[in-house]
Amino acid sequence: MTLKVQVTNLNKNFGTNHVLKNVNLDVQANEVVVIIGPSGSGKSTFLRTLNRLEEPTSGSIIIDGVDIATSNSNINQVRENVGMVFQHFNLFNNLSVAQNIMLAPQELKKLNAQEASEEAHRLLKTVGLEEKFDAPVQSLSGGQQQRVAIARALAMHPDLMLFDEPTSALDPEMVGDVLQVMKKLAQQGMTMVVVTHEMGFAKEVADRVLFFDDGQILEEGTPTQIFNHPQNPRLQEFLNKIL
Ligand code: ADP
Ligand code: MG
Repeated sequence: MTLKVQVTNLNKNFGTNHVLKNVNLDVQANEVVVIIGPSGSGKSTFLRTLNRLEEPTSGSIIIDGVDIATSNSNINQVRENVGMVFQHFNLFNNLSVAQNIMLAPQELKKLNAQEASEEAHRLLKTVGLEEKFDAPVQSLSGGQQQRVAIARALAMHPDLMLFDEPTSALDPEMVGDVLQVMKKLAQQGMTMVVVTHEMGFAKEVADRVLFFDDGQILEEGTPTQIFNHPQNPRLQEFLNKIL
């Protein structure tokens, strides 16, 4: 096993709000970790600290041997290696599908236009949207936009992908296509940390499920342990509400 991510005693405060409380987590290469938990428990903040969209208050976050929590680490390099997919896609709406995907590789990886274009074609095929290459982003459905967002993240060849409720903003009939793309990525060996309420996905794809509550990991285990044999009363209560 290869350790990909090692989070040690991570704390995050927003003013007096202590949002992450001594979080510890190891993620192995090729592992798929799903995070569940109530709204406001710190799930998004945790993901955002993993690619330094938020600065940790204390603790260490080591990704591929580099401590990204220290201020002198190269944040841009961290973000190139860690892809993130958000609930609300965050695409550039004034650009085409292809332009969204080609932008970062040209700017940061110095690909020329043809290389970036070939890569965009390949990635769009992977997410089932090859025919949308030249389409304006705004002409796409939510589910299609989210698949473009995944392709855009993959264009940087990340070795860790973070997903923050990627299907929560989608109409129900769009959810399956996005989950299918994520499942394929997992099968190809991508290391993934996924915040989701899609319990079917968690059961099928997750190696490990974490239950976040009040800024802490209250319980973790295999999907079977978490969903069929929850121990902590707070987890039992949470599952009763959502299942
Ligand atoms: P979750 O994703 O589990 O719903 P969040 O990580 O979004 O939880 O939020 C956890 C807590 O942190 C909430 O109390 C929220 O108000 C607070 N919070 C999140 N982001 C910020 C921010 N940028 N500034 C101040 N408080 C924040
Ligand atoms: Mg959130």
